[in-house]
Amino acid sequence: MAKQIKVSLIGNPNTGKTSVFNLLTGLNQQVGNYPGITVEKKEGVCKLPRGVKAHILDLPGTYSLNASSLDENVVIEILLNKKDKDFPDVAVVVSDVENLKRNLLLFTQIKDLEIPTILVINMADRMSRKGISLDIPLLEKELNTKIALVSARKNEGIDELKKLILSYASIPAKPCVDALTFAPEYFDRLKKAFPNQSIYKLWLVITQDVNFRKIDKKKPAVPPDFEIKSESELKRFQQKETIKRYQFINQVLKKGLIIDEKAATGLRARLDRVLTHKFWGYFIFFAILLLIFQAIYDWSSYPMDLIDEAFAWLSETTKSVLPSGPFVDLITEGIIPGLGGIVIFIPQIAFLFLFISILEESGYMSRVVFLMDRVMRKFGLSGKSVVPLVSGTACAIPAVMATRNIESWKERLITILVVPFTTCSARLPVYLIIITLVIPDEKVGWIFSYQSLTLMLLYFIGFGAAVGSAWILNKILKIKSNNYFVIEMPGYKMPMFKNVAINVIEKTKAFVFGAGKIILAISIILWVLASFGPNENFSNAEEIVTSEYVDLSQEELDQKIASYKLEYSFIGYAGKAIEPIVAPLGYDWKIGIGIISSFAAREVFVGTLATIYSVGSDEEETIKNRMASEVHPVTGNPIFNLASGISLLLFYAFAMQCMSTLAIVKRETNSWKWPMMQLIFMSVLAYVIALVAYQILK
Ligand code: GDP
Ligand code: MG
Repeated sequence: MAKQIKVSLIGNPNTGKTSVFNLLTGLNQQVGNYPGITVEKKEGVCKLPRGVKAHILDLPGTYSLNASSLDENVVIEILLNKKDKDFPDVAVVVSDVENLKRNLLLFTQIKDLEIPTILVINMADRMSRKGISLDIPLLEKELNTKIALVSARKNEGIDELKKLILSYASIPAKPCVDALTFAPEYFDRLKKAFPNQSIYKLWLVITQDVNFRKIDKKKPAVPPDFEIKSESELKRFQQKETIKRYQFINQVLKKGLIIDEKAATGLRARLDRVLTHKFWGYFIFFAILLLIFQAIYDWSSYPMDLIDEAFAWLSETTKSVLPSGPFVDLITEGIIPGLGGIVIFIPQIAFLFLFISILEESGYMSRVVFLMDRVMRKFGLSGKSVVPLVSGTACAIPAVMATRNIESWKERLITILVVPFTTCSARLPVYLIIITLVIPDEKVGWIFSYQSLTLMLLYFIGFGAAVGSAWILNKILKIKSNNYFVIEMPGYKMPMFKNVAINVIEKTKAFVFGAGKIILAISIILWVLASFGPNENFSNAEEIVTSEYVDLSQEELDQKIASYKLEYSFIGYAGKAIEPIVAPLGYDWKIGIGIISSFAAREVFVGTLATIYSVGSDEEETIKNRMASEVHPVTGNPIFNLASGISLLLFYAFAMQCMSTLAIVKRETNSWKWPMMQLIFMSVLAYVIALVAYQILK
């Protein structure tokens, strides 16, 4: 393979880096993580003129090289380490023409690392409306670089950029601000001690050491006489650096940039006033949330039903075409339903990300953050946590993925950890059947009934558990996060179709290939456990049941056999084995089996009970009647009574009974540590609460 030119895209958040990246690479892109951390890594390949190729890396958005967060640290680590495999041949700094001054701060820092640097001035389409004009040749000369004036939105200037990348070798790698002026005495000493090195680079290594010493111990040691002793000394030097850089930038822009104020219109200000209004702001936001909820909950149900039927059909057809046997059973009852269990989430994920991308792209999301941040921050969450929490009421999987837009890792992690408490739609079938069994069907007052109040209460409990545990996690998690917070207020824009489409496709792919493997593996394991048994009770189930019940119809007989098989399968034995553990919660071994098999997904509980009680799983009335008549073998009391029912409701409210969520949390946090903690914590909590409830009520 011919050598590819290595290009790093660098820039402040919201300057259009990803848009430029999408234009350069199209769908030739991959998303992963940087090794060992959960910062998203996007890379792709771009075809340049004359058959040359470039490898493009979209680095996380960063305001400066004085890193304080993990995301920014990624950028610095790569730029400071010539041996890093991502070290660029050429850096492309993407800037927004409307915020050129602030964006150039980062540009001058990169430039001073003496890496060939191209400056992209993006959003050129907004120049005329804002009355901005630029003297490009003069800016190129003053900044000692090559500039591409680009509009990612209109796909203009990208070819020019490709040409500049191709000829990167001719770009001078000269610094533009003299680091000696930041702290003359200190830098003078540095320069004398390391005459052959870029002192700015050395300086960054030293500051990185101060900032991240606790995180990364294998950093090269700073020579002792150059160690920065205190954080305040460091801050002072950094402030000095920022001042010097802005002096330089101001002086450049005074000559190269002209803004005609009168040309700017006031539409943005008027929109802002409504969208961040004390009443209308919230009103509009909740209306949008309602729409999103509707899409995930209701609109996705049509494609989801189709997918469900398609996989059932596929399973049936395969069964009828192939000769029967354990291998075909594995395919038709294990693998196909397992795959179906993955594909079925695609509509919800796609819908949610369609909305989120549009909200982000249009600039509206920043207003939401502004509105919600103050409230959410009290609980250790971010303004952007609202969307995942609301989406969680439909399904935790897209919700966990939606946390990707939360910049601070700590806030994102807390959101991921608490989202599974919200009442997702898979809990509903379980709730509904138990509520109708144990809660009296009577009215309280005129409108409400005990049953509907119970359901409402369960929703509140879920939300309360989420917010409450966020509050606790915020207190106990020791994670370094952004210690300064900038609310970006970008201008309003029509969303770019290409960005939205790529985002939706990429999120769906991430789910299918990232979490899908785990979901498939666990479904197969659970299938094996339910389809095989340790002794002849399982293998001879048919004969045993047939000889015991002589006057049953074929259908009833089949149901009895299925029930018998499940009872003597591995899962059946597991259910019996945990009976002593779940008995204090008011459950018997049959419910135990239901709990174990519904670890795949909560709604499986109802189907499993139907099988155990040997009734067809599509006859809801029959299941209910059968459950109602189930009595304890010794005491003769009904198994499903108020105490055990409430206990079961609370168990499902708190327990992490969803392997798909665990799989996606593993993917999003890039480790097994967090999903395992989540699983253990939620299960223990669920057990304790269900136990207390049963013991009080019984
Ligand atoms: P990133 O945060 O730097 O990756 O920026 P994005 O690529 O996500 O873009 C941020 C916003 O700017 C999005 O709403 C884009 O649609 C918008 N945007 C990107 N490029 C342009 C452009 O050339 N012109 C205009 N008007 N908007 C743009
Ligand atoms: Mg981006």
